[in-house]
Amino acid sequence: MRRFEGQVAVVTGASRGIGLSIAERLVSEGAQVVITARDEGALREAAVSLGAPEAVHHVAGRADDPEHRAAVLDLVDRELGRLDLLVNNAGVNPAYGPALEIDSAVVRKILDVNVVSALEWSRDAVAHGLADGDGGAIVNIASIAGLTASPGIAFYGVSKAALISLTTQLAFELAPRVRVNAVAPAVVKTDFARALYAGREEQVAASYPLARLGTPTDVSGPVAFLLSRDAGWITGQTIVIDGGGSISPVS
Ligand code: NAP
Repeated sequence: MRRFEGQVAVVTGASRGIGLSIAERLVSEGAQVVITARDEGALREAAVSLGAPEAVHHVAGRADDPEHRAAVLDLVDRELGRLDLLVNNAGVNPAYGPALEIDSAVVRKILDVNVVSALEWSRDAVAHGLADGDGGAIVNIASIAGLTASPGIAFYGVSKAALISLTTQLAFELAPRVRVNAVAPAVVKTDFARALYAGREEQVAASYPLARLGTPTDVSGPVAFLLSRDAGWITGQTIVIDGGGSISPVS
């Protein structure tokens, strides 16, 4: 299937993990993709690993830096000439511990990257043509932490709850030209979540009915679906991807 033939996508935070898997999926289905991340060397290696030099572009920078965003969207205008798909994947969680003990500067950093930058990428993507083609799509990578209490990563959960609400609000504002959806994964085996499963992977896996941790492809498949015309009448939704964790009976 080449559902994204002729389309152009931007995926933030895509040098590894879930973002790289989304980029792989989009490239394999025909899209031209611009990937971003902070570490330029790792980003370049990721771009090469995608194995389609004509279809992959990369720009290093921080997702919450307006100059970086402008550089990405200028490249889209100059070299690709259209924009169809945006994945707000870059996210941070620099704090572990109770919400009431979190430093206020850290709170602002988490909100800047996880929420404000998703708003700004969406706004600027629309200004650069996301709504102009035959139907644009945005997918925000939220988290199950935005839907449940999440001891130890509570404020990260607050930021993802805000991202889920932003998804709903933008879906309404941007309809009918652009669909906006989100996914809410539980623990996916990436560098980002290592502290949540290192040394106790079996125990974490056992908390999910599907009895394993998530993989980046468990997320990139549903994201590709939401970006594609197969999801053409779906907007404002958040798909939970959690190995069934949220349907577990209360014990
Ligand atoms: P990951 O494997 O650590 O990859 C994160 C990617 O984002 C890397 O390419 C990283 O490269 C880039 N990045 C990080 N901070 C950035 C920033 N400020 N600006 C631009 N790029 C940035 O993480 P992941 O697990 O794939 O997480 C991706 C998204 O999924 C995040 O939004 C996370 O909240 C969400 N999520 C993850 C899980 C999980 O269990 N893994 C569960 C639910 C939701 P650089 O470090 O070079 O910038």
